[in-house]
Parts: sequence; C-alpha cells; structure tokens
Amino acid sequence: RKAVVRITTGSQALDELLGGGIETLAITEAFGEFRSGKTQLAHTLCVSTQLPINLHGGNGKVAYIDTEGTFRPDRIVPIAERFGMDPSAVLDNIIYARAYTYEHQYNLLLGLAAKMSEEPFRLLIVDSVIALFRVDFSGRGELAERQQKLAQMLSRLTKIAEEFNVAVYMTNQVIADPGGGVFISDPKKPAGGHVLAHAATIRLMLRKGKGEQRVCKIFDAPNLPEAEAVFQITPGGIAD
Ligand code: ATP
Ligand code: MG
Repeated sequence: RKAVVRITTGSQALDELLGGGIETLAITEAFGEFRSGKTQLAHTLCVSTQLPINLHGGNGKVAYIDTEGTFRPDRIVPIAERFGMDPSAVLDNIIYARAYTYEHQYNLLLGLAAKMSEEPFRLLIVDSVIALFRVDFSGRGELAERQQKLAQMLSRLTKIAEEFNVAVYMTNQVIADPGGGVFISDPKKPAGGHVLAHAATIRLMLRKGKGEQRVCKIFDAPNLPEAEAVFQITPGGIAD
C-alpha cells in the first residue's frame, strides 16, 4: 500500500483545514467564482510539490494541463524564490500542456501516464477540468453524452492518482443553480453534476474576501466539521 503524501498549499490555515495539505492518492477539486484563487493555488502547488518531504513538499515533478491558457511561467519565479528554490530548476520540473478539446485533454492524460511510469511525479493539475466539455457539448441534447465522456476522463484521473501516488488538483466552474431562486441565498453550484461530485475526494469552495484575502470552505462533506480557512494571494503565491 502506498503512503499518502501531503503537499503544502503555502498557507498554514488552509493546510490545517485540509489535514496537512493536498493529498496524493486523491482528487482535490477547487471551485469558485472568477478570481477566487483556483489558478493561483495551482501555481503555488507547482512549486511546493517540488519541496522536500520534510518541508511539507512532495519531492516530485508536476504535470499541468491547461484548458484556459492561464498558466504563467513568469508567475512561478517569485513563488520559487519565496520557497528558496531555483526558479529555472522548478520550471524544468513542470511538464506543461495546453488542451484544446475534451478529446485532446483525454489523450494528454494517456501520454502522461507513460511519462509518470518513468519519472517521479507527485502532482497533476487540470485547470479547468470541465471547461472544454462545456464547450464541446453545448447542446441541450448532448448532456448525457457529455457526462459519460466526463466520467471516463475522471476515472483516468483517479487511476493516475492511485497508480503513481499523485495528487490530482482540478479546478471547476460554478454555474447558476437552475433550481435557484428567491429562496436560495447563493444560487451557485459547481458544474459537472453527480459525476464530478462523485469523482472528487475533497471539494473546496473558494470565495473572495477583503482585498487579496480569500476564504476556503470544504463543500458537501457531512463527516467533516464545518470550518473555513482564510488565506491570501501574495506575489509569492498562496500564504496566510
Ligand atoms: P477564474 O475562474 O477566472 O479562472 P481563478 O479562481 O482561477 O479565476 P486566479 O487567477 O487564481 O482566479 O486569481 C486571480 C487573482 O489572484 C487576482 O485577481 C489577484 O487578486 C490575485 N493575484 C494574481 N497575481 C498576483 C500577484 N502576482 N500578486 C498578488 N496577487 C495576485
Ligand atoms: Mg483560473
């Protein structure tokens, strides 16, 4: 049995909420409104995953699948410096790919599995996991097919997490709740329905606070205490 590795988010408060950081052998989903910090957390994890285990890292490489074109190598530099690491060495250990269709996204995962059997990876980022599915299956009558393809891709992610002892960090979008209305105070919910809800080991709901402050809450986990963590987005990445 493989041992779970917990990778720091850069914020102690957020790490504590997660029980030590984001976990390998699991899928962590983050959803929330625009600018809530999903992609900034991804950038921070790109660096912290490469820290040694005794510094709450994963001592491993990172694979980054980007469907929105929002990965910024320049952003990695100050984050690496904040953790006392060499930025160019850190960038060299991030395998990056931009996906343009849901099929492309799926095929990239197949290719990554081959790479992961040769080199020690500890993190796979998919930002965002659902955007291309929402574009490629936009018709009303295509929902069933979309959910089927989405389930296939998510089962790949689960397999990668378990086979290579990797932490999967995927971001999700929020949609207006069709059942929402005057009686629901926050008519937003994560996209992807039951299929996505079922695949995620832990679901993080992010929202904006004051200024660069952000708030994270664990979503829909009846067996966990209702708690929130407040963190900041700083030039050096996610912090307290
Ligand atoms: P979307 O749904 O649009 O993808 P997101 O949740 O991925 O949004 P991020 O891109 O992670 O949002 O967060 C963007 C926010 O991060 C900016 O609005 C800004 O507040 C903060 N930010 C970005 N870069 C820096 C930086 N260098 N220093 C400090 N804060 C930054
Ligand atoms: Mg983003």
